[in-house]
Amino acid sequence: MIPYGKQDITQDDIDAVVDVLHSDFLTQGPKVPAFEQAIAEYTGAKHALAVNSATSALHIACLALGLGEGDRLWTTPITFVASANCGRYCGAEVDFVDIDPTTYNLCPKQLEVKLKHAEATGTLPKVVVAVHLCGQSCDMQAIGQLADEYGFKVIEDASHAIGGKYQNKPIGCGQYSDVTVFSFHPVKIVTTAEGGVAVTNDDALATSMALYRSHGVTRDPLLMEGDSHGNWYYQQVALGYNYRMTELQAALGLSQMQRVDQFVSARHRLAARYNEKLQDLPLVLPYQSNGTYSGLHLYVVRLQLAKLSKTHKQVFDALRQQGIGVNMHYIPVHTQPYYQQLGFGPGDYPHAEQYYQDAISLPMFHAMTDEQQDTVIDVLAAILTE
Ligand SMILES: *Cc1c(COP(=O)(O)O)cnc(C)c1O
Repeated sequence: MIPYGKQDITQDDIDAVVDVLHSDFLTQGPKVPAFEQAIAEYTGAKHALAVNSATSALHIACLALGLGEGDRLWTTPITFVASANCGRYCGAEVDFVDIDPTTYNLCPKQLEVKLKHAEATGTLPKVVVAVHLCGQSCDMQAIGQLADEYGFKVIEDASHAIGGKYQNKPIGCGQYSDVTVFSFHPVKIVTTAEGGVAVTNDDALATSMALYRSHGVTRDPLLMEGDSHGNWYYQQVALGYNYRMTELQAALGLSQMQRVDQFVSARHRLAARYNEKLQDLPLVLPYQSNGTYSGLHLYVVRLQLAKLSKTHKQVFDALRQQGIGVNMHYIPVHTQPYYQQLGFGPGDYPHAEQYYQDAISLPMFHAMTDEQQDTVIDVLAAILTE
C-alpha cells in the first residue's frame, strides 16, 4: 500500500533521540526550550509553548483566551474533530461556519453574515478557530478584520501548515491572530511522534498557556499570592493539566525542523507533478489562493461525479484495493454523532457536505518516489476512465 502520508526519519533524527536517552533529562530538560526557540525563530512568533499534541495546544489556547461556559467557539466543519472539541473541553458552545467551495477553508463572507446575525441576537463567538486545510492559509486578513470589528479572538489551527506562508510571512507569525497551533503527529509535515506547539506574540497569553500546560503550578514569585515559604516552594494558581512534551520528542522535533523547508519543497514538487499529470482527468485539482504558499500537508482532489460512471465510494474502494492508500479529510464535524446530539445535522452546511460527497486525499509524503506517484496517477486514471 502506498500510504497517504508518512514520516521521514533519518539517522540524525535517531541519534538525536538516543542522545537524550543517554542524558540526565528525559523530560523537563534543555531540549524542550531549544525546540520552542527553534519554532519561535522559524515562525517569527515571540513565544512558543511545546505540548504533547496539537489537541492540547488548542485546549490551552482556549483556556488562556478565557473561553468558558456561556461562551461560543466557531470553526469550520471540514477539519479534524479536535478543532471543535477544544471549545467543548472548556464548556463553551461550538458552532460552525461553512467552507468556501473553492479553497475548502472557512469562508470569511459567510463568517460575516453569521456574525451580523449573532450580533443582533447577542450570540457572538469569543473564539474563532481558523483551520488552514491541507496547509493553505485561510484568508486571515479578512478574518482578522472581522475579529477587530466584532471583538472575537482568533486561533489558527495550522496543524497542516508548518512551513507555509501567508502574504510572504511564515504561518504562525500571528499578524492576524492571537494564537497559532501546529501538530507534529507522524502524518503531518514535521513529527515528534505525538506533539504540538502553541505560538503567540502576547506575553500574558504565553504565561497563561505555560501554566495550563503544567497543572497550573508555578515557581515564579511574580505569579504567586503572598510570600514564598522557601526554596522548595511552588503554588498552584489555576487548574491546569499535564500536557508537557518530553525531551525525546523535542529532540526529534529539533532535528526534524532542520529539514522543514526541504519537506515542504518536496511536497510542492510532488503537487506540481500531480497538477500536470492529472489535469485532463474528470477531477477538480487543488486551488492555490493568492498570497499563500501552502505547507501542502494534503493533496485533495474532487471527483467530477457527473462525468463519471462510478460513485465516490467505488472510486475510493477501487484505489484502496489496488494499493493506493487514499484517505478522506474530513467527515464534516457537525455530522458526527456527538455533534448531532448537540443539535447539528445533515443539511446545516451544504458546501462542507458537498465536499464530503466527492473529495479524496491522494498519497503525498516527503520520501514519495516518482515511480510511486506515477503508480497513483496510472491507477487513478484507469479507474476514472474505465
Ligand atoms: C492532526 C490535527 C489536529 C490534532 O493534532 P494532534 O497533534 O494529533 O492532537 C488538530 N487539527 C487538525 C486540523 C489536524 O489535522
